[in-house]
Amino acid sequence: MADTYSGEVYCVKCKAKREVTDAAVQENANGRRMAKGTCPECGTTVTRILGKNQ
Ligand SMILES: [Zn+2]
Repeated sequence: MADTYSGEVYCVKCKAKREVTDAAVQENANGRRMAKGTCPECGTTVTRILGKNQ
């Protein structure tokens, strides 16, 4: 299953929040979900911790 996330994610390169769409949602070993997307401004990979089952 491929969950996606759309919303604000902080870009460390731009040092600003960017709006991402269709970021891939992954679950790590701790059961935490993370959204992994691409900054629309600079193309850097951006991640956001989503927390459990949100
Ligand atoms: Zn950026």
